Order: sequence, then C-alpha cells, then structure tokens
Amino acid sequence: MTDPTRFDLDERQRAMLAEMGVRVWWPQRSAPAEAAPAVAVPAQPVAATPPEPVAVAAPAAAAPVQAPRSEPAPVRAAPPAPSAAAPVARPADPARVSLPAGVDQMDWSALQATVAACQACGLCSTRKNTVFGVGERNAEWMAIGEAPGENEDLQGEPFVGQAGQLLDNMLKAIGLSRQTEGRAEGVAGVYIANTLKCRPPGNRNPEPQELATCAPFLARQVALVQPKIILAMGRFAVQSLLHTTEPIGRLRGRVHQAQGVPVVVTYHPAYLLRNPADKAKAWADLCLALQAAQSG
Ligand code: URA
Repeated sequence: MTDPTRFDLDERQRAMLAEMGVRVWWPQRSAPAEAAPAVAVPAQPVAATPPEPVAVAAPAAAAPVQAPRSEPAPVRAAPPAPSAAAPVARPADPARVSLPAGVDQMDWSALQATVAACQACGLCSTRKNTVFGVGERNAEWMAIGEAPGENEDLQGEPFVGQAGQLLDNMLKAIGLSRQTEGRAEGVAGVYIANTLKCRPPGNRNPEPQELATCAPFLARQVALVQPKIILAMGRFAVQSLLHTTEPIGRLRGRVHQAQGVPVVVTYHPAYLLRNPADKAKAWADLCLALQAAQSG
C-alpha cells in the first residue's frame, strides 16, 4: 500500500483526494523527498480556520459533532431529529429474544446467520434486512460506522448511499477498497461494518440499549478480522468501541485501543458531507491510521 504520509502522491491518488474533496498542493513528484511537508485542505472554502498540517494530527478544536444520520444529508446544522415524513418508531418491546450464548466463539458463518435471525431488540420489527458487513475478512483495516440507513437496509450492505461513496473515496485515497476480488494491483482490502446491524427507523439515533445489545456482534467481527487498525467513524462507533461519550474532536489525533487493536477516531462520512471543511481533518486521521497500521 502506498503511504500518503510521505507526501509523494501520484496522479491517481491526487485525483482520488480531489474526489474526496481534499485539495493538496506541494512540490511535484520530482521534488526532493525532504521537501517541506504538504498541506491538505478541503477544496471547499474553510472558514477562517487555517488548515491543519497532514499527519500532525493535533487534537481538534472542538468541532461540533452532529449525529451522522440521514442520507442524503439534511440541512446543515439540522438537529438529528427525524423528518415529519419519517416518524420515529420506538421499540415497544426492546428485549425480545436474547442473543444466543457463544457469540464470542462463533465463526463467520454462524455469526452471520445469528445476525440475520436476530430479534434481540425492537429494530428487528422494522428492518428489511440485517446489514452484516462487507469486504475482506482478513483485512488489515476495519472501518466501522454507525447503523444502516435506508439504502443499506434495502440492499443489506453497509455504506451504499452518498456517505458510502465518500467513504469509498477516502479509502481509495489510501489504497484500500471494499472489493474482495479484482482489486487493482497495490490496492488492499478493508472490512466495513456498522455498530448496529439493523436500521433505526427514520434514521433516528441508536438507543443505548440497542448499542449494548448489538455490541457483541461487532466485537466478534473485530476478533475474527483481527485488523491492524480500526477507523472508528462517528460517535456511536466510538461509544461502542471505546466506551466513552467524549466528543470526536477530543478523541482525534491519537491512537486508542479496543480489543487489543489500535483505533483511530474520525468523523462519520455523513457528517463530512454536511461539514466539508472538516475533510482535511479526516484526511489527517487517515494518515494517522496509516502510520499506526504500519508501525503495528
Ligand atoms: N451510515 C452508517 O454509519 N452506516 C451505513 O452503513 C450507512 C450510513
């Protein structure tokens, strides 16, 4: 895999960064390796804040973290409340059928079947499909989001909407793809999963009880993949993996641990769609994750 932290990106990577909305400028490839470090900033105008240097992921100035629900992105700064057209159905009967014993010992096929049949919380009554995960099951990288949205619920695959396109572009920029077959040379696999395996109706935020009930599934996926690095995207992934309610802005810029695996915290792609000025910070997070993966 190439290392963008070396600031020696080729044309293809530059094009991918442009797709991601991150504009980079620095000396051309012919410039000496010791050339001044590159700076990556979003192509969109950045309000008075100067861009952060890449790979020096200083703790962020508490950027407001909004819940990354609802795709397409709602009006900027909108609260995470569901729209009137999509009334929120609260589970009337949260604990229906407990998770079977031994989730923490299951192999992939048992785990997938258990998720598909799960009725441990009220989300089972409104989901169309469970959304297990996608990608390379032996990947060095795991990217973990929040919960399926409408498209994911319909297709049974994580991150297939607009946020998914951005995620794919972010991953592409560091040489990763969710494809398990036919990846271009030099492109590595990634396993993508969500914290919740079922869609909260109306794209409302996950309830603490739902997060707790579903957590063993994600924990088992992490144990089976045994990645070198986890990218925790958004506050619910962070809550589930790191057991903290600290805001993303305070957790970024350093490497955490979950289940013995290094974890880098970053913004959720849906948040980035609404707050493109923070894409430069997400790029810095990717670079930090790349370094952590390589040193692990
Ligand atoms: N947002 C998520 O967190 N996960 C998805 O699968 C889609 C959108």
